[in-house]
Amino acid sequence: MSKAESIYGLTIEELTERVAALGEPAYRARPLYSWLYAKLAAGPEEMTDLPAALREKLAENFDWSLPEIDRHESSADGTSKYRLRMADGEAVECVAMPSEEGGGASFCISSQAGCALGCEFCMTGGMGLRRDLEAGEIVTEVVLMLREMGRRPAALNILFMGMGEPLLNLDAVGKAIEIFSSAGGLDVALRRIFVSTAGIPEAIKRLYAGERHPRLAISLNAPDQALREKLMPIAKRHPLPELMRTLRALPVGRDMMTIEYVLLAGVNDSPAQAGKLSRLLRGLHAKVNLIPFNPCEGLPYEEPGEKAVEAFLAVLSKAGVRCTVRRSRGRDLSAACGQLAVKR
Ligand code: SAH
Ligand code: SF4
Repeated sequence: MSKAESIYGLTIEELTERVAALGEPAYRARPLYSWLYAKLAAGPEEMTDLPAALREKLAENFDWSLPEIDRHESSADGTSKYRLRMADGEAVECVAMPSEEGGGASFCISSQAGCALGCEFCMTGGMGLRRDLEAGEIVTEVVLMLREMGRRPAALNILFMGMGEPLLNLDAVGKAIEIFSSAGGLDVALRRIFVSTAGIPEAIKRLYAGERHPRLAISLNAPDQALREKLMPIAKRHPLPELMRTLRALPVGRDMMTIEYVLLAGVNDSPAQAGKLSRLLRGLHAKVNLIPFNPCEGLPYEEPGEKAVEAFLAVLSKAGVRCTVRRSRGRDLSAACGQLAVKR
C-alpha cells in the first residue's frame, strides 16, 4: 500500500476536491480546514460538527501524523528550538520566538533538510543537502509549534530562515505559503511571511510572477562579487550584478525587501565595505538587517565587536539606508541564525 497523503499538504482547493472524491459534499472542506488550522484539532475525532461517516473516511484516507519532537530546548528569552524527526528519519529544526510585547510570535522554519549551497559561515551549509521537505512537512512545523504554544499568537510571522534554501524547493514552499495564508485557516497575511534566499534570480522572478507573493529577504553578506563568491559559492553561478538587476526589476509594493548581511569580523565589516554596500543598494526599496555572526563550532569566523557594528551601522545610516541590527534570539541554545544543523 502506498503511503497516505498528508492532510497538512493540501490547499483548500485540493481539500475540497478530496472531500468530493470521498463522496461527501464539497462544502464540508471549509469547516475541515478551519478545524485543522484555526482550531488546531489533533485529529478527526475532535471535529465534532462533521458527520461521523466523513470523519471516519478522513481518518482512513489521510496521514494525520505530525513529526516527532526529537528534542526541545527553551531559552531564557522565551525562544523554543525544536528538532523534528520526519517519518523517514530525516531531521530538521525550527524555532518559535515569542515577541516581547503584544502576544505575537515569529516562527523560523526549515524548507529542506540540510542545504546544498555550502555558504562558508553557515552550519546548515556544512551538512550538504539531505532532501527537500514536502509542503505537508513544512506546514506541520508551524502546526506543531502552535500546538506547543497552546495558543494562537495575536500576530504570527513566518520566516523561511531555518534550514535550507527555500527557492530551491519552491513548489513545496509556494504551496505551504498558500496553506498558511488561506482565509478560514491560519490566515497569516502574506506580508508576515518572509522568504529568505541566497539569491537565485530565476526563482525570485517566479516567486513574484503571480499577484500574491510573500516578502523577500536576500542574504547579501558582501558588498562586491569577489568577496561574495568566496563566502557564498552560489554567487559564482549567479553573480551580484545579475542579482541586483533582478531585484531592481521587481514590482515595488509598499513593503520593503530585506537585505540580510551577516557581519564577520575583519572579513566584511569595515566602514569602507559599508560605504560600498550603501552604493550598491542606492535606489532599491530595501532595508538592511545586520546580523552579527553567531559563532559556530568549527567555522573560522568571529563575531564583530560592538564598535565595528556601530561604525558599520553609522555609515549606512548616514548614506540614508534604513538599517537595523538583529540581536539574535536564543543564542544560548544555538537556535540563532546559521546555527541550525543536525548532528548525525
Ligand atoms: N538559505 C536561506 C535561508 C536560511 S539562512 C538564506 O541563506 O537566506 C537564514 C539567514 O541566516 C541568512 O541570512 C544567512 O545569511 C544567515 N546566517 C547563516 N549563517 C549564519 C551565522 N553563522 N551567523 C549569523 N547569521 C547566519
Ligand atoms: Fe544554505 Fe542559507 Fe546556509 Fe547558505 S546561508 S548554506 S543558502 S541555509
